Formats: sequence, structure tokens, C-alpha cells
Amino acid sequence: MESNMASLPTNRNKGTLYVVSTPIGNLEDITLRALRILKEVDLIAVEDTRRTLLLLKHFGIQTPLTSYFEGNEEKKKEYLLGRLVEGERVALVSDAGTPGISDPGYRLITLAIKNEIPVIPIPGPSAAITALSVSGLPTDAFLFKGFLPNKTKKRRDLLKQLEEVKETLVFYESPHRLAETLKDIFEVLGDREIVFTRELTKMYEEVLRGKVSEVLNQIKERRLKGEITLVVSGKPRKRID
Ligand code: SAM
Repeated sequence: MESNMASLPTNRNKGTLYVVSTPIGNLEDITLRALRILKEVDLIAVEDTRRTLLLLKHFGIQTPLTSYFEGNEEKKKEYLLGRLVEGERVALVSDAGTPGISDPGYRLITLAIKNEIPVIPIPGPSAAITALSVSGLPTDAFLFKGFLPNKTKKRRDLLKQLEEVKETLVFYESPHRLAETLKDIFEVLGDREIVFTRELTKMYEEVLRGKVSEVLNQIKERRLKGEITLVVSGKPRKRID
């Protein structure tokens, strides 16, 4: 196996954007390479300063931070591009998991690519892959849809479009919309197999497997908190015996 253990490039004419994955909960899930890159870069662009500061403090990293989130990304991405063009090394870190996967990171990544700035992945956890890995549903092919729309009509319309998809489906969901979403999945896609995952890698990690109706039944009396990823089986294939 080849590994890229060399120090960061010394050619300061061109900067580099490192897309650094961070834990989705358990801090032990950070990679050695991510720690080294976060220590060595000139600047870390972060979605949630408070959350990333906790991570950096835990590992004794003192690299300067700047915020980059949904509300300021238009202005901020030009500023970050400026620093990259000047030859600086910038790490992009999201709230948790892999930057760019259902979070604002991808716009900065696109801008860097357009400006011929090298973009280097520092892989690590992502909630979608983590949930899939323990789902027990087929993982050879899957469709990741990120967050379903907030509005019922739009959500149902989107689910309707997914009715014929045979691949396993993966969604991010928020606790306050969960029951509604499960009902919509039940009504539009039918009583499929579903895997409900909550707070993966954290203290209150929970995985429920069963039919949509069974999972709905199990959660209906509960006031759920935390971060949720749903994995739903694709359209059942007809058996040919
Ligand atoms: N870029 C991130 C990634 O690669 O995982 C995802 C960002 S998205 C804004 C955040 C959503 O991911 C949460 O609302 C939740 O649906 C899901 N998520 C994050 N952490 C999770 C966890 N520990 N367990 C289950 N789902 C999680």
C-alpha cells in the first residue's frame, strides 16, 4: 500500500485546499493524517467554530480558524480563494464528517478547482457511510439523497420519484421531522425495511431495524433528540424461483 506521508508541499507559489473529514461524534475517529494536516496548514475554514475548537483543543492544535458557513459563504469563499492564490494552505472542515456532503463545503471546493488550486482529500467518517455500514441492507449500490424537503408536498413528491429505485436509499433527517417523514415513507414507498440510526459513534448511539411501521411504532411515544440518518431498502426485486 502506498502512503502519502511526505510533509506538506514547500512550493509556496500555489496554495492547497485540504478537504479534511472529522469525527461525527467520537473524537477517536479522527485520522493521524487529519491531525497532522490540521496542525500544519496556515488556516482552517470551519462551519461551526465552537465545535471545531473543542476538537482542536482536545488534540492541542493551535492553527488559526476562520468561519465558513451557509450564511457567509458567498463573501468568505472569495476571501479563502485569495489566501489560496497567495500560496497558503487551507484546511476545510465541516460541522462533522466529510466536508461537502450535504454541507456548504462544495462551493469552495468548486471555486478552488476552477482556479486550479490543488484540492486534496483527507478521508474519514461520513454519517451516510457509517449508517450504511451497519444497516445490513444491500450496500453494493445505494442512492444518497441528503435531507428530504421540509414541506410535506415536496417531500412526498420526491419520495414518489424514488418509488422505482431498486438501490438502498439513504437520508439525513432531523428529530422533529422524523415521525412525519416515516409516515410519508410508509404511505409513498410502502412498508419497506428501514434502519433508523441515531447519534452514531456517540454515547447514546441507537440503531433500530425493521419495517417502517415497526420503527414508527417504536419511536412514536418518544421525544427524540440528536442526529439521525435513515437507510431504506430499495424497491423490492421480484423473485424468480
Ligand atoms: N458532511 C456530514 C457527513 O459527512 O456526515 C453531514 C452533514 S449534514 C449537515 C448533518 C446530518 O448528518 C445530520 O443532521 C444527521 O442527519 C447526519 N448525522 C451527522 N452525525 C450523525 C451521527 N452521529 N449519527 C447519525 N446521523 C448523523
